Amino acid sequence: MPLGQAAPQPGPILRFPRPARPRPPSAGAPRAPEPILLSPPQLTGGELAALRATLDSGWIAPAGPVPEAFEAALAEATGFPHLLATASGTAALHLGYRLLGVVPGDEVWTSTLTFVATIAPAVQMGAVPRFLDVTPESWTLDPALLERELARAVRRGRLPRAVVPVDLFGQCCDLDAILALCERWGVPVLCDSAAALGATQRGRHAGRGARLAAFSFNGNKIVTAGGGGALASDDPALIARARRLANQAKEPSPHYQHEETGFTYALSSVLAAVGLAQLPALPQRVEARRAVFARYREGLGDLPGVGFMPEPAWGQANRWLSVALFHPRAGAPDREAVREALSALGIESRPVWKPLHLQPAFRDAPQAGGAAAARLFEAGLCLPSGSGLTPAQQERVIAAIRACFGEAGR
Ligand SMILES: *Cc1c(COP(=O)(O)O)cnc(C)c1O
Repeated sequence: MPLGQAAPQPGPILRFPRPARPRPPSAGAPRAPEPILLSPPQLTGGELAALRATLDSGWIAPAGPVPEAFEAALAEATGFPHLLATASGTAALHLGYRLLGVVPGDEVWTSTLTFVATIAPAVQMGAVPRFLDVTPESWTLDPALLERELARAVRRGRLPRAVVPVDLFGQCCDLDAILALCERWGVPVLCDSAAALGATQRGRHAGRGARLAAFSFNGNKIVTAGGGGALASDDPALIARARRLANQAKEPSPHYQHEETGFTYALSSVLAAVGLAQLPALPQRVEARRAVFARYREGLGDLPGVGFMPEPAWGQANRWLSVALFHPRAGAPDREAVREALSALGIESRPVWKPLHLQPAFRDAPQAGGAAAARLFEAGLCLPSGSGLTPAQQERVIAAIRACFGEAGR
């Protein structure tokens, strides 16, 4: 280094890669249209200030005022009096299974049309999953089938340890009906409301009334913390125990004392700060996602063989994902043909969850029905649904789908 030149300043300890600057299009080259993603995170603009304030405060551990404030804001948004902010939705479900006392050999029942995370923690604990079909009315756990299966389980003398209905794609299951059936036999309900923040069931927030409910703040959900979840209940003792388990089951003692083993499952203050900055946007985002769904119905509803995820009278979905059905026998192209055509244009879409009873991971699991879920998987496609999706972007998606229909789409 030449004399007299200042020594380089030490850089910040954390270096983040700079976002690549978009290169100007070279003259004449056709510009690739910007990709349209399924459900990208949307920022409110408040995140950076919240992060800075949190870092400045020194409270960055998974405890302290920021997760507490996040839990209070969630209680306000959901009506649940007791909540624990967790590192993920899956962690919340895992804690829920622990609280319900799942042990190896126990049966845990869930809807077959769901994401694997609903049941994965229970299976890892040695539980036997039983996959129940959904009702075409809502695509969520069929209460009539649940009633029949519970009666059969009583005759076998082997009730499930827990029933885990799912609020599918942000639409509430028929929770009141499910609770009434489970209460009859004293079976606790853990509601997987991971994708249903802001959705309601008979005027109550998703999950309300269940013994436990799990939420997710993963990057693709309607409100994100950049990763995170929550476990909620009306029972303060359950959430207090969840809090202890989420913090390595440390007993109150000056030394490390453990009556049982736990997890590192509490939400970091850094992520809770992001979640806190996001939560106030929830009502607008429900509106925005519902508007996206309405525009799809308007723009595609006249096409032959096209259907949409129904919304039953008992609830209001947050329309986390807009789902359309493509029935080839009624004149629509195959759902994979539509997905591939969209993909070629930089538009992301995804088949509806592949039912868990059809997954190789669960090939030996008992099931009850499953044909309704399998049909939805065959025909169902989740379309770009972000709360930041612009009408112009959505027009592109709609035009691309209509183009798959040939003459009928013009
Ligand atoms: C997102 C999601 C989960 C998992 O939440 P993570 O925060 O990603 O662990 C579980 N169940 C359903 C239905 C989900 O949509």
